[in-house]
Amino acid sequence: MTNDASEYYGCDVFDISTMKNRLSSATFRKLEQTIKEAGRLDESIADEVASAMKNWAIEKGATHYTHWFQPMTGITAEKHDGFISYNGEGSGLTEFSGKALIQGEPDASSFPSGGLRSTFEARGYTAWDPTSFAFIKDRTLCIPTAFCSYSGEALDKKTPLLRSMDALNRQSLRILGLLGNSEVKKVTPMVGPEQEYFLIDKDLYSRRKDLIYTGRTLFGSLPPKGQEMEDHYFGAIKPRVQDFMNDLNEQLWRLGIPAKTEHNEVAPGQHELAPIYESSNIATDHNQLMMEIMQKVAERHDMVCLFHEKPFDGVNGSGKHNNWSIMTDTGVNLLSPGKTPSENEQFLLFLTAVLKAVDDYQDLIRVGVASAGNDHRLGASEAPPAIVSVYLGSELAEILEAIKEDAAYETAQKTYMKLGVRSLPTFQRDTTDRNRTSPVAFTGNKFEFRMLGSSDSAACLNVMLNSAVAESLRIFADELEGKKDLKKALHELIKREVKAHERIVFNGNGYDESWVQEAERRGLLNLKTTPDCIPYLIAEKNISMLTGLKVYSESELHSRYAIQMENYCKTIMIEARTMSSLIKRSFIPSINRYINDLCDVEKKRKDILDEMKFTYEKDLIIKLSELNERMYRNADELDQLIEKVRGIDMEKDADMIKTDVIEKMAESRKTCDQAEKLCAKEYWPMPDYGDLLFSID
Ligand code: ADP
Ligand code: MG
Repeated sequence: MTNDASEYYGCDVFDISTMKNRLSSATFRKLEQTIKEAGRLDESIADEVASAMKNWAIEKGATHYTHWFQPMTGITAEKHDGFISYNGEGSGLTEFSGKALIQGEPDASSFPSGGLRSTFEARGYTAWDPTSFAFIKDRTLCIPTAFCSYSGEALDKKTPLLRSMDALNRQSLRILGLLGNSEVKKVTPMVGPEQEYFLIDKDLYSRRKDLIYTGRTLFGSLPPKGQEMEDHYFGAIKPRVQDFMNDLNEQLWRLGIPAKTEHNEVAPGQHELAPIYESSNIATDHNQLMMEIMQKVAERHDMVCLFHEKPFDGVNGSGKHNNWSIMTDTGVNLLSPGKTPSENEQFLLFLTAVLKAVDDYQDLIRVGVASAGNDHRLGASEAPPAIVSVYLGSELAEILEAIKEDAAYETAQKTYMKLGVRSLPTFQRDTTDRNRTSPVAFTGNKFEFRMLGSSDSAACLNVMLNSAVAESLRIFADELEGKKDLKKALHELIKREVKAHERIVFNGNGYDESWVQEAERRGLLNLKTTPDCIPYLIAEKNISMLTGLKVYSESELHSRYAIQMENYCKTIMIEARTMSSLIKRSFIPSINRYINDLCDVEKKRKDILDEMKFTYEKDLIIKLSELNERMYRNADELDQLIEKVRGIDMEKDADMIKTDVIEKMAESRKTCDQAEKLCAKEYWPMPDYGDLLFSID
């Protein structure tokens, strides 16, 4: 393999240049138009495209094809079909029709539907998404598809995302039209997800049942060295990790995934990979694919890649910072402050739309990142708090302040600017201190949403962002349309909206305890746990907005409510059962073996020395026996709570789980971690934190 990535970049993707080479020019033009302008697909071209795809894939060694989709499990699904078909005369031939490309019919009954299925048929349909290129993975041609029920209700994460992009496109075009910008034909939300992860040794992983069952360690006391020296962040990458990264980059680049930035993160064993931003649909597809490939490549290097938001207690967890902006097909980033006043107006209007969106739909943004895993991370002073707020940086905050007060804005160079929107100076990208504690930070020409968890699909958060901003723009467009003095109306609107939503702007330290009280005074939501926020998904105002923009139907929202709630309960119950089982079947017997040996030593010594001078064994035996007793009681009480969770009334279950079960788990863990510190290492039944975090060299 050559070192020059440009020679193989995208070689496993049926991308624009491959299409151009392999399709007739008429068909190519039609397909390209569908892709670039999100127009309707002309189905008459399907047969030719399918045949070209099949021939290309077979030349590249593929034997099967699959519709690749994202059911609401959070991972991707595929069902492989061979290209081969039998002609009845003893010889095989390859076959892949336009119909097979456009539509598939996987059985939907084994995927979560949150009640949508009980009212509809079990059958599901997958529909080709031509905007996301087909690719080859493991000798299989994968065709990105949307997944819906017999009656057209979305059973996946892609469909609502595409609908939300469409809503944002429609409303943005209305605004741009009003501002006299008629060149733009399409507006697309762009996303660059920075993926954090841990790498640990495979052999050690295989001896941690908690990691295997739950993705995180349920036990483990901190090793003598953790992340306190801050020597890992941006540190030299270790050879084994570098080998992994090189291998990974090659795999990703072959698939046209623009992996770009890689570095060590804060915690030992923690790393980050950021691809170059793409449309939110492609970025989401690519992120799913990237996570799958990261796991596979890690395995090849005898490591395991952990995506859990909080795999280790006491060291930083992992997020997936979602960098978000809005781009026109003419190449303009609508969140980039321009150089001319008219561009500034446009910028300020879109900026105001984001402020309004984040304030009005704090709840939905929080829902968009809610998971049992992320509950450990948000508000733990390593990631943003569960309170949604926006950081603008000092310069932009001052500009908005000036607009709000109709005051003059003085630039850093001490030149006075005139009042109002038109006078906005060329805005400098905020290069001063980055605020890392804010959940939504403006970083010069994009917003960085830092709440998203590392294991989550980027789809849900982006559906909420795109929709909420589309809704702001819709309201703005309704107001501005038909206004005679547009400039004046625009200025008034921005001034009014900046004032109305100033509570959402917070430029201070989000980790500070005082912010929690301040946020409460401002009336901002602080939804600490997943069960606290999921009900907002079906709050009347949110149903009204999301159905109004045709992003979700009401039944689709109810189904997502049920799935998220169930997912939360199941996740914690698996953790609770794993915990109890490990305590009773592993820790207590192991500690008993140690106690037994200590007793032997003590007895033998007494036989030889015949004196009572040494008492430490006895001391240790007493301490460990007491801890064993407490561990057993805790596990027993946990078992009783587990029994009480019936799976009949989800809200009731979730209420008990988020309080009683979680508290009992915390108590159990504490006792076990104390015992771990006292128990000789060779008796402890699993690798400890030191082994796990410092295992890779
Ligand atoms: P940082 O300093 O936070 O690392 P980068 O500029 O390196 O910032 O960007 C981090 C991520 O943000 C990358 O995935 C990058 O592609 C993405 N990004 C950069 N510009 C934009 C944009 N305009 N819209 C969306 N994502 C962007
Ligand atoms: Mg960043």
